[in-house]
Amino acid sequence: MKEERLSFAEVIRINRKGLKLIYSLIPWNRFWDIMMAVSNLLFSYWNYFFISRLVDHISVGAAGETLLYDVIFLVGGQIFVHITERYIMYYYMYCGSNVWELANARLNCKIMEMDYEYTESENIYNRKRDIDTIARYGGAGLNRLYWNVAHAMRITLQICVALGYTLYLIYQGRKAFAGRGGEYILFFVVFVGLLAGLVVLTIYVGKKSNKARLYLDEQMVPYNRQYIFYTEEYINREECGKNIRIFHQQNLLSKHINELFNNMYRLVDRSLDVNEKESTVTGVTEVLISGLIYFMLGILVLRNAITIGNVCLYAGCISMFLQHFRDAIKVLTLLYDNTKYVKTYFDFLEIPNRKYEGTLPIEKRTDDKYTIEFCDVTFRYPGSDVDVLKHFSIRFRIGERLALVGKNSSGKTTFIKLLCRLYDPTEGVILLNGIDIRKYDYKEYLSLFSVVFQDFKIPAFALGENVAASMDYDEEKVKVSLEKVGLSYLWDRMPNKLETPLYKDFDDKGVDISGGEAQKIAIARALYHDTPFVILDEPTAALDPLAEYEIYSRFDELVGTKTAVYISHRLSSCQFCDDILVIDGGQAVQRGNHEELLSDKEGLYYLLWNTQAQHYKEEEYNSISPCNS
Ligand code: ADP
Repeated sequence: MKEERLSFAEVIRINRKGLKLIYSLIPWNRFWDIMMAVSNLLFSYWNYFFISRLVDHISVGAAGETLLYDVIFLVGGQIFVHITERYIMYYYMYCGSNVWELANARLNCKIMEMDYEYTESENIYNRKRDIDTIARYGGAGLNRLYWNVAHAMRITLQICVALGYTLYLIYQGRKAFAGRGGEYILFFVVFVGLLAGLVVLTIYVGKKSNKARLYLDEQMVPYNRQYIFYTEEYINREECGKNIRIFHQQNLLSKHINELFNNMYRLVDRSLDVNEKESTVTGVTEVLISGLIYFMLGILVLRNAITIGNVCLYAGCISMFLQHFRDAIKVLTLLYDNTKYVKTYFDFLEIPNRKYEGTLPIEKRTDDKYTIEFCDVTFRYPGSDVDVLKHFSIRFRIGERLALVGKNSSGKTTFIKLLCRLYDPTEGVILLNGIDIRKYDYKEYLSLFSVVFQDFKIPAFALGENVAASMDYDEEKVKVSLEKVGLSYLWDRMPNKLETPLYKDFDDKGVDISGGEAQKIAIARALYHDTPFVILDEPTAALDPLAEYEIYSRFDELVGTKTAVYISHRLSSCQFCDDILVIDGGQAVQRGNHEELLSDKEGLYYLLWNTQAQHYKEEEYNSISPCNS
């Protein structure tokens, strides 16, 4: 993370905004923070106050009954405050510990709702992961803001009371030096000088240790990221287990992890070293200063300015003041330095959506007669200077099938991304029923499409939830969709039918499914949604050409009268389509049915068909060749 200098006004603004968010996430936090501050104050001063009374009563030889009352108040009050404080602490900790989880949930929502183009940038996921990592493992950001503001509230209250007593003590000093103004001034100067000395030392050491802490936080980010990758995203993933064994990666991973731990230990060691030095210096100084303060209080007692009991009270107050002042400096510098992490959180949350959000409702049609037209569309990905689609124009014939074929990287998936408005064209326009798709309400527009992408994912949710992409689903409809893709046996095999979780990631009772079954579930999901447009974007790329052809042509029977778009780099998979569009280098170069396209011996389709046919023949030959047996 780059060092960014924030003005004081910005620091205040960002932290206020952070607090506002925290208190809106858990409104009870504010109440428990105040309760904690009050109970802490009571707990600290109850002791000093009643011990001071007791000592005074003893020193003047008060009656046993008075002493008994003093003890009852001292002990009884302490027990009461202690119990209440535990109770308050429970709620305080409970509310506080949820702050980051709730704040993080907002980041997750943001990732799901931001313009899709951001999610294809690696940078976005790294940014999100860094914010989460530094909050979770380093405690920085909103978490640190919350705990430290709550702490600051407690400290402020304590400091105010301690300062009041300390000032009163200085005032009392006048009595001890009645008639000797010069001595009083000396007393006052030494006293204030001692306090000021400690304050300066505290600021200096506090700043140093905070710097070290921040340095540790920042340096830890890449290491934590690596650690999460090795453990959560690699070693513990079923699909990586195969690679680990086949390529004997155990040693490689162990060495990388050991190296990582060594780097982490070195960092922690350096930071602990600074902290140790800090506590030694402040500890010794505090003892020395306390000694001097006791000495000065002794002078006041000898000169009858305060009672012996007051020594306990004032000594306690002064040491409280010093200790809390040191804490206050720590908290303030921590909060100041923490501001940049709070800012990073809000910067992420406020990434603006660039896509124009239209409001026009989609015309509801029972006949599914929607026309889509790409008019001279040119597109290049953000940050790239290569046109992936060039002056691309096409009109869909409604209710029919369109196949998009072409070599890898010719722009087929990009066409689908534009069709679903995951991106907007750089030039040109896409029309739905003659109207620019940007003008439509985006959610409504998206509900026209079901797409099975090449990199589809089936999460570890229940089977029914996966098909419906929702917790509430129509069981019959789910079953029909599964039946259509030939998976009716699946729910019979499952202990809790449609409610059975897939895979064992979150539940031991989960059922593992094969890659082929996952593919079919993804297709069933597209069928369940019953949208006017269904698109298959090579979800079958891992299958052999014959299996892909079977799935594509079977799917074609299933979609009935809907408009279907099929994408493949294998021409054989789409030959059943009456309307085949050949894309090359981001341009539509040929269109027609299989026979028409094949009859053009100069065309790309003819060339690709023959090259691929030759390749498949070779594959077939190799698979039956005796050399392979
Ligand atoms: P196809 O589906 O025909 O294989 P794509 O539409 O996926 O091709 O990709 C077309 C070109 O666009 C490729 O050169 C690919 O590298 C590039 N491309 C795809 N996605 C992105 C992206 N998010 N950012 C930059 N370039 C991309």
